[in-house]
Amino acid sequence: MVALQAVMHKAPSTASTDFDAVVIGAGVSGLYQLYRLRELGLKVRVFEAGTGVGGTWYWNRYPGARFDSESWTYGYSFSQELLDEWDWAEHFAGQPETERYLNYVADKFDLRRDIQFNSRVTAAHYREDTRRWDILLDDGRRYATRLLVTAVGILSAATLPTIRGLEMFRGQSCHTHYWPQEPVRFDGKRVAVIGTGATGVQTITEVAKTAGHLSVFQRTPQWCAPLHNSKIGQEEMGRIRANYAQIFARCQETYGCFIHTADPRGTFEVTAEEREAFWEKLYSEPGFGIWMGNFRDVLMDREANKLISDFVARKIRRRVKDLTVAEKLIPKNHGFGTRRVPLESGYFEVYNQPNVELIDINETPIERITPTGIKTTAAEYQFDIIIYATGFDAITGAFDRIDIRGVDGVSLKEKWQDRPQTFLGMLVDGFPNMFMVLGPHAGLGNIPRAVEYNADWVTGLIRFARERGFTRIEATAAGATAWTDHVIAASEGLLFTEIDSWMTGINRNVEGKHVRRIMRYSGGHPAFRQRCDAVAAEGYRELALT
Ligand code: NAP
Repeated sequence: MVALQAVMHKAPSTASTDFDAVVIGAGVSGLYQLYRLRELGLKVRVFEAGTGVGGTWYWNRYPGARFDSESWTYGYSFSQELLDEWDWAEHFAGQPETERYLNYVADKFDLRRDIQFNSRVTAAHYREDTRRWDILLDDGRRYATRLLVTAVGILSAATLPTIRGLEMFRGQSCHTHYWPQEPVRFDGKRVAVIGTGATGVQTITEVAKTAGHLSVFQRTPQWCAPLHNSKIGQEEMGRIRANYAQIFARCQETYGCFIHTADPRGTFEVTAEEREAFWEKLYSEPGFGIWMGNFRDVLMDREANKLISDFVARKIRRRVKDLTVAEKLIPKNHGFGTRRVPLESGYFEVYNQPNVELIDINETPIERITPTGIKTTAAEYQFDIIIYATGFDAITGAFDRIDIRGVDGVSLKEKWQDRPQTFLGMLVDGFPNMFMVLGPHAGLGNIPRAVEYNADWVTGLIRFARERGFTRIEATAAGATAWTDHVIAASEGLLFTEIDSWMTGINRNVEGKHVRRIMRYSGGHPAFRQRCDAVAAEGYRELALT
């Protein structure tokens, strides 16, 4: 019976159902967008590929997955009731707690009744004759909607490495993003991790605790800094709750919507002793302070960046006993903070353990995956488990995986082939009635803070159009060009633009993603909001509303 139901559920159908709005994705963005669109009285359907809500926090259940943002800055701010009811257990919540939180939100606001799980959108085509978007799911079901909102996440299109023999491996293997729901045990197992980004660093630290032997295959070391996580007791939670208004107000003022903000002083405006003391303080404090609360010029001025890099390198040398290993763990091809800084909880000490080995694949490249392990140019290793912490086709990747076509069948993937082009990261010319929450060139940062603003802005625009009887909302080509030019100009002088990373659109495992591009707005969230608010205040005159 169960099996038959499953077959019927998956059978292709041509049934057409009309919605006022379809939202793709039931993560942090999709849940909130659904809540807001419902308030407008719209008939909304959310399509979610997974079997549960949470997006990033549903999929990424790999060992050690946790926030790098303070939990109490990460929760939704829109509901006082929710803020009153939810207690965070840790300053930086682990994945299970965050997934529980997002399920709590879905239940509290009765969001599930409009979410269709197991439903991966494969195509969305705009039809001018009906002014509808035709939506196709991977099982063949079709729907039509007037409005389309993409809430697909910026890091949701996971990518495996392009290494020969991947499918040959006979042990267990998994990309961290697709980690199974059932616990995986590492006791006594020979485990390999490929990839040392923020995900790899968390995974390695956790797996090293129980694995029989852990081999880390590293291509590029990272400038990791300590997370300094701790539990939150009842009393402290009470204090945090009493301060929510100030906390969220502070997040609105900062560059990346985090609690941390750049120090107004320049690196060379203080004495060497003051500098060292300041960096010691930042290194000993929780969270992203050392990245976002550092001297104002460390991410722009080469000399300043070199000094902070030297400081963090000294820390690594002190923490890793074997000097050769320590040198391998110190980045040489990019400066501190020019890639997303992974926050760690004992990561470097892992390499002092007898059961952990670091393999620099620049010295001895991986030749192929074998049925029993990994073969490098120097040796053949045997493994029971291979973990791919190899990252994502970031920001545009999730869009590329859906065949999105606008007016005259123009493909979004092709339109963005050379670089993304959007208006405020929320609209694309030629794609009417399509809205993006955290699209390319939007103001990013602490995700829920950026999401709430972005989804509110989209909701405001839809409300405005409905009240005036507009049925077609579109960015103009001139508007999109101007915003794109502005986004590129805003990133000038920032050192991260000179470095390969997902933040500059690089993923060597994906064809067409080998050239650096500006993927997000770097002018800071306050400036982003100011610009978006102005567009709304002027009655969206910069858009084509008909
Ligand atoms: P990532 O930063 O892109 O790291 C991917 C890693 O895999 C890199 O070390 C990369 O090496 C390596 N790699 C990729 N292809 C490879 C290949 N073919 N052979 C060998 N190595 C290969 O991805 P991520 O670690 O998943 O993190 C992505 C982002 O997700 C983070 O920057 C962060 O924004 C977010 N994240 C957040 C949290 C949190 O909030 N706590 C946790 C995890 C992730 P190269 O560097 O040489 O390319």
